Amino acid sequence: AFNANVAAAQDALNAFIVATPDAAIDAAKAVDVKRAKGEALGKMGGVPIGMKDLFATKGVQTTAASHILEGFKPEYESTVSQKLWDAGAGMLGKLNLDQFAMGSSNETSYFGNVISPWKRNDGGNAPLAPGGSSGGSSAAVSARLCPAATGTDTGGSIRQPAAFTGISGIKPTYGRCSRWGIVAFASSLDQAGPMARDVRDCAVMLEAMAGFDPKDATSLNLPVPEWEANLSGDLKGRRVGIPREYRMDGTDADVLASWDRGIEWLKDAGAEVVDVSLPHTKYALPAYYIIAPAEASSNLARYDGVRYGLRDLPDGANLQDMYAATRAAGFGAEVKRRIMIGTYVLSAGFYDAYYTQAQKVRTLISQDFRNAFTQVDVILAPTTPTAAFGLGDMVSDPLAMYLNDVFAVPASLAGLPAMSVPAGLNREGLPLGLQIVGKPFDEQGVLNAGLAIE
Ligand code: GLN
Repeated sequence: AFNANVAAAQDALNAFIVATPDAAIDAAKAVDVKRAKGEALGKMGGVPIGMKDLFATKGVQTTAASHILEGFKPEYESTVSQKLWDAGAGMLGKLNLDQFAMGSSNETSYFGNVISPWKRNDGGNAPLAPGGSSGGSSAAVSARLCPAATGTDTGGSIRQPAAFTGISGIKPTYGRCSRWGIVAFASSLDQAGPMARDVRDCAVMLEAMAGFDPKDATSLNLPVPEWEANLSGDLKGRRVGIPREYRMDGTDADVLASWDRGIEWLKDAGAEVVDVSLPHTKYALPAYYIIAPAEASSNLARYDGVRYGLRDLPDGANLQDMYAATRAAGFGAEVKRRIMIGTYVLSAGFYDAYYTQAQKVRTLISQDFRNAFTQVDVILAPTTPTAAFGLGDMVSDPLAMYLNDVFAVPASLAGLPAMSVPAGLNREGLPLGLQIVGKPFDEQGVLNAGLAIE
């Protein structure tokens, strides 16, 4: 049934880059075999999921939604996807995304934009962005094409699309999920996580995805807690911080109202609500848009026409010409913009003024959170300044697009666990998300506050 729905919705949503119906069927059949033998089914036994096309999947095209990787079939499986298969899940297909996970609307994909299954309640038919970069994941889960999907979050790419489509998604503490076999964007920020219909499904899936991996030098060597078994929406004795700097100009009135409602829900669940300050918040976005492109410009140097996918070899070309032609043809405009910004901020003359400065700001942002967490257990804020915008509304204005990440980026810079949960609809009938940010390693506190809200 899921395979049929994926195929039927492809023209309307464009959520998948490639469907893998046989893999999903194989996982379902494996459940029958295990049942017959009386064996345990695994945490995700038989569950058909979508895999963001940023995770290397052995023998299945892995593109990062870029022309430069078109046709690339890895010889290896990413650690996170392998863990999901080991837990019994099956793959419905590879999900569309922003090219190399750079974007907030899924419009930078080489394979065409994803269309949100949501519509405004004004009777019009204007297509909306599903968010990005995990826009295929958010559209597919929200349209019920799959019960859950993987996402990755470098500066909000799990939380913002979850908020735009009325689903849940958690970015765990940096290092919880192995980055091995995930196409690298900004390695000090990239983190995988689940996107699903509710908090409990996220907890189950995160348990399957997380865990120490010696193949990732920044993997956390900690046991995976039993998040699902310890879920509780009772917040008695818990303190929730409301960061005053997040009440920014330009934030939609409906978003502010949903934040106020969320505060009341957490109070109803027994929490004490405390005003906190994160004074360097306004520097997070500029720091992110220096650090992330800097790392990207280095990570993307490997796509040279020799190692993977596309090769453009004009007549009479030498090696340099081949590099240039391949990269000119293979990368999209946003990816090129990031490579140029990153190369510029890392160049000898500007390194201290931009990159070093941004790293200092990153430390200040972390210290802000550390100070706040001496007073509170979790922080509650909106996930995004507005509900979903229309497809095409932002493409000509990259800075407006970047501003969409303003509430998501600070937790990324600080490596903290952060989740978006659905928190009602705005006046136009579109979903709004609320974000919970936790202390390092305290996914449990984040999930429990999320449970109290949903
Ligand atoms: N929208 C942000 C960016 O374009 C975040 C992307 C992400 O988290 N992968 O960088």
